[in-house]
Amino acid sequence: MNKNHIWKSIWVAALLLVWTKGTAQTQKQPNIIVILADDLGYGDLSCYGHPTIRTPHLDQMAAEGMRFTQFYAGAVVCTPSRAAMLTGRQPVRNGIYGKAGVFRQNSASGLPLSEITIAEMLKEKGYATALVGKWHLGHLPEFMPTRQGFDYWFGIPYSNDMGKVFTTHKDGAFGLPPGPRANAPVLPLYKNETVIEEEPDQRYLTKRYTEEVTSFIKKNKDKPFFMYYANNFPHTPLYASPEFEGKSKRGLYGDVVEELDWSVGQILKTLKELKLDKNTLVVFTSDNGPWLIMKDHAGSAGLLYEGKASTYEGGLRVPAIAWWPGKVKANVTSEALTSAIDLFPTIGKITGANIPKDRELDGTDQSDVLFGKKENVREILPYYYGETLYALRKGPWKVHFITHPSYSREEPKRYTTPLLYHIDNDPGEKYDVAKDYPEVVAELTREFEKQKNGITPAPSEVDKTIEAKQNP
Ligand code: MG
Repeated sequence: MNKNHIWKSIWVAALLLVWTKGTAQTQKQPNIIVILADDLGYGDLSCYGHPTIRTPHLDQMAAEGMRFTQFYAGAVVCTPSRAAMLTGRQPVRNGIYGKAGVFRQNSASGLPLSEITIAEMLKEKGYATALVGKWHLGHLPEFMPTRQGFDYWFGIPYSNDMGKVFTTHKDGAFGLPPGPRANAPVLPLYKNETVIEEEPDQRYLTKRYTEEVTSFIKKNKDKPFFMYYANNFPHTPLYASPEFEGKSKRGLYGDVVEELDWSVGQILKTLKELKLDKNTLVVFTSDNGPWLIMKDHAGSAGLLYEGKASTYEGGLRVPAIAWWPGKVKANVTSEALTSAIDLFPTIGKITGANIPKDRELDGTDQSDVLFGKKENVREILPYYYGETLYALRKGPWKVHFITHPSYSREEPKRYTTPLLYHIDNDPGEKYDVAKDYPEVVAELTREFEKQKNGITPAPSEVDKTIEAKQNP
């Protein structure tokens, strides 16, 4: 062998080593699937105690994984909740709050592009990324999911009531209702940055989303992927496919939740069939509590008080199940204090991604809880309404400095001595015990002030409207 040949052989060996190492690492990186329901309440699944909604697939997921009883959505309504979950940061830091509450069809802004989403963090690690379903973080071209780290998007840019159809047809007929919304913009269904349908038949949304999710998994089975599946339901207007409509004992709302349960079952089945289950973390949760003003078209927060748009427990505490056979212990109920805002650092840790160091993160890495190394890692949980801190929890205690009923014109009530509840003892927040525990009130007041003063609100993005831009 001459010198040239020897060098060639060394090069080939070195390249092979790098290549095989790279492949092995890629295979070791776990897939991540986050499934987000819209307005599903704490009490809406059978594994969370609902008496007449049957959710066998989610119950099975809980039996094979970890079911959380003290998991909180990132915020009390859709838009900020999604921003918090995807960035690991309080919406007040990135301007995702405002009088409108959520982004609307006339919004001129979205989640700032300077924010780093879970998808962007994982894309840098070589993940294939997709969103199937609802975005609600800016509908203009520059704010689309495809500009925020998602390779692929199939879904609706905001809530399913932001089109012409806003009432549920109790007779089951599909069509546009008469009334003021007849002149509303049409609800678009997107594939990447193209509108592929207007006012899609919502009865088939869950089925179509499920097909999109499972085909993405199949297509990417040989490389790490991140799937964010944000179903538009059970947000109203409610629609179930003919296979599910009229089947549950809990009316149309129950039908919709049971179809969502079926959808989750299809995804877990696909993972098992492809033998990806042992290398995939699946998290199921909801973006906020039930939209109680929708009456029997809304869900239930179970034993918790209030619902969506409230900083009482029913507004934020939601079902959450984590599933990863062989890694997340099976059949465990965790009482750890956890939040959707924790997903960003937790997923970052699990995947070995670069967690950004140039900004404040509000999430806490929960991987030790998931893998059974610790019972609890988070001590404090703040409750914001828009940019305003209303309440704070520390351990089992919670203080409310401001309260107001959800969806009411009542002025918020402000308290000099806050309301104090022992959340473990009194999860329904019925008995204010502030008088009996002045030292606890003092301690939580200090934490409340610290939290409040620790964040300077960024200017509101939600209140930037197209009209305001045109007539400044
Ligand atoms: Mg919602």
